[in-house]
Amino acid sequence: MDFSLSKAAQGRIAMARMAAESLMRPISRQYDEEEHTDPWDFFNTMWEASKANAEATSLGGKKSGDKKVSENTLLACMQIEELAWGDAGLYLSIPNPGLGGAAVQAVGTPEQKQRFLGSFYKGKPKWGAMAITEPHFGSDSKQVATTAVREGDEWVLNGTKIFCTAGHRALNESDGFVVVWATLDRSKGRAAIKSFIVPAGTPGVTVTRLEDKMGIRASDTVTITLDNARIPADNILGTAEIVEKGSTGSFGGVMATFDSTRPIVAASGIGVARAALEVLTQVLAEQGIAIRYEAGPSEQTVLEREVMNMEAQLQAARLLTWKACNMMDRGQRNSREASMAKAKAGTVVTRVTQKCVELAGALGYSRKMMLEKWMRDAKITDIYEGTQQINQLIIARSILGYSSGELN
Ligand SMILES: Cc1cc2nc3c(=O)[nH]c(=O)nc-3n(C[C@H](O)[C@H](O)[C@H](O)COP(=O)(O)OP(=O)(O)OC[C@H]3O[C@@H](n4cnc5c(N)ncnc54)[C@H](O)[C@@H]3O)c2cc1C
Repeated sequence: MDFSLSKAAQGRIAMARMAAESLMRPISRQYDEEEHTDPWDFFNTMWEASKANAEATSLGGKKSGDKKVSENTLLACMQIEELAWGDAGLYLSIPNPGLGGAAVQAVGTPEQKQRFLGSFYKGKPKWGAMAITEPHFGSDSKQVATTAVREGDEWVLNGTKIFCTAGHRALNESDGFVVVWATLDRSKGRAAIKSFIVPAGTPGVTVTRLEDKMGIRASDTVTITLDNARIPADNILGTAEIVEKGSTGSFGGVMATFDSTRPIVAASGIGVARAALEVLTQVLAEQGIAIRYEAGPSEQTVLEREVMNMEAQLQAARLLTWKACNMMDRGQRNSREASMAKAKAGTVVTRVTQKCVELAGALGYSRKMMLEKWMRDAKITDIYEGTQQINQLIIARSILGYSSGELN
């Protein structure tokens, strides 16, 4: 599998690295401590950078024989590893179409892509978001109780969504949008669950709570209530028919969004783990401890073995993530690999950041260093976009050939 990228793409990864180093790291601690404040200088700078990035992405690709092949997903993951290395919460705060945009990209019509994404990078900074989770469920998404009822040429949405990333910025700080999952008929289960694009400014849509969190505190996470919120009929993603498995309008079609977003979450975890491992090796070097890669197994110290093991685990997670991206760029179905990447990266970033705090001792626990922060930022990799356990279930079903009804 070829993970090489075009020169243009490599340049854009270098830009992401520069932004991480010069814009994110210097304000990382401040916005961890000042949750719910908006770093507007950072937003404005990143908005301009994101515009340029989006233009370059639409022109991009690399030559393979006579054909130009997409490298967009792999490039996005490599950029995100850099940005999350800078700060995972600030990376999630960069104005962009976000998970909502990924849903439009995965299942939207050409007209919807043009309407919501084609002109996204015009005007002031904007955000997109996706709202699935509700007060009575997270993992079990067939429990969606928010309703969508067709009235004339509109859909009327009612319900409550919780823990929506970037929801406040999408709805209150910009003219962005939130993709909301709702059911057309609860008695029909998964088949009746559809997603709807709810633009900012829609009457009846209110952000009612800002979450206080353990990690990724620069990112906004909110509760949204929908009270007779009316949106145009053509804001539904996929068909309004309650269809069987396999079609783009089906629940499986909506779930296809995760094929592109899970590798992205994995990449952000890898960025955090890499940051922690780099700082740990600096701390060790300052104490005169170098890792002797040439030492045989019987000569290695416990410390050396721990560091080498963490490096190997990190690289394993990265390679799985790149594989999932490469498959997507080639137009291959990658649901299993996307879940594998996310499950592996979730475990790796959680263990690596904890181990780095442990091996750095009191320094690791102190707020003078960033290690404790990265340990807090790490755990989300295992929670959103399908928890560790849910992704393991998806992998098991896919390998064993079971349906979600047979293995849950
Ligand atoms: C910071 C943050 C940002 C978020 N952003 C978004 C967002 O933008 N949009 C959105 O819609 N949601 C978002 N979420 C919600 C997130 O997706 C859910 O928290 C997640 O899906 C888990 O749901 P839950 O919290 O209800 O846990 P539960 O589903 O109740 O799970 C609790 C535990 O049980 C385990 N479990 C559940 N079912 C099974 C099973 N069948 N087999 C084995 N174990 C199982 C889980 O793995 C977990 O360990 C966010 C959450 C956080 C914390």
